[in-house]
Amino acid sequence: MATAGADRGAGTMQVPMLDLQAQYRPLREEILAVVTRVCDSQRFILGPEVDELERELARMLEVPHAIGVSSGTDALLLAMMALGIGHGDEVVTSTYSFFATGGCVVRLGATPVFVDIDPVTYNIDPSALAAAITPRTKAIIPVHLYGQSADLEAILAIATRAGVPVIEDAAQAIGSRYKGRPVGGFGLIGCFSFFPSKNLGAFGDGGLVTTSSGDLAAVLRRLRVHGADRQYYHRAIGGNFRIDALQAAVLRVKLPHLAGWTEGRRRNAARYDAWFRDRGLTDRVTTPVALADRYHIFNQYVIRVPNRDAVKAHLESRGVGCAIYYPVPFHELECFAHLGYRVGQFPHAERAARETLALPVFGELTQAQQRYVVDVVAEAVGRHG
Ligand SMILES: *Cc1c(COP(=O)(O)O)cnc(C)c1O
Repeated sequence: MATAGADRGAGTMQVPMLDLQAQYRPLREEILAVVTRVCDSQRFILGPEVDELERELARMLEVPHAIGVSSGTDALLLAMMALGIGHGDEVVTSTYSFFATGGCVVRLGATPVFVDIDPVTYNIDPSALAAAITPRTKAIIPVHLYGQSADLEAILAIATRAGVPVIEDAAQAIGSRYKGRPVGGFGLIGCFSFFPSKNLGAFGDGGLVTTSSGDLAAVLRRLRVHGADRQYYHRAIGGNFRIDALQAAVLRVKLPHLAGWTEGRRRNAARYDAWFRDRGLTDRVTTPVALADRYHIFNQYVIRVPNRDAVKAHLESRGVGCAIYYPVPFHELECFAHLGYRVGQFPHAERAARETLALPVFGELTQAQQRYVVDVVAEAVGRHG
């Protein structure tokens, strides 16, 4: 039948990039009850909710110390402050991450040294990292991008040889594992985010730092409250980096569900892999590679397609949410122009910025929605591939 929509193949469906309502609905009563509990207590700053959350997260992440902070960004900032990083220091990190990874280094007056990624995993390339170490290097920040651990063994070997600490940016990787152990516990400090789109999302901002060092944990706790062990007796210049008791209470309700939600994401990722393969699309759609020694938590399911912008526009016109993480590598950002990098310097990151597209992978995604996403991607690469 010659209707206006006939050339669009199957009917149109709305598939959001992330559906937080679907996750919230079954937990609504329980969450409202704990929010009421905190409101009734009128204890909003640190206190028992935060203490309990820290204990529960330390257990889950298999680390001795977990410290709740105001955001993932502040986790990174606090980690570097605790290590005394500042003017004249260099911090080596990937050129391909969320802005905060690079931005925090500059905020402290230090110099970020960007390196290219491995084109298969999108994580920092260890050989490029090794080549970027100088006598001024004061830290290495690998990012576990999209939820898959970076090559920690290689990175830790380089760090040990250079005598430099590793700060893991695990903002997208809570519950992710490398050779059986949770990420965030390999480096001297691990940094996590509870931004609502992360696998464990708060009802606002929140974050976490982890460490196995008791001394460092004490420094991090002190810097979280303006550098004071005792109120008004400031030993160092810190800041207000606290997580709210309300956020902690909400996160405590969500935490027991995290493993199941992550399994849902992994199941959906495997289903996309299989369906793209079965449809004969993998010559035009490069699916993500989950390495055998890592437990990928799929905060994002990122494909690579030629003509990415046209594919994205097609998906959006057909009601499929999708996103680009990230369209511009750090070395091409205006705010880092003073560092003197040039376009063409990190070809793998630049190519990823042009070709990658994240598809909906949240746990509550239905098979019908997923089939529709694959249909629409097939249409798009048929047309624009
Ligand atoms: C989300 C994110 C951050 C920052 O976390 P916020 O809680 O949003 O401040 C840092 N690094 C990476 C890789 C992230 O994905």
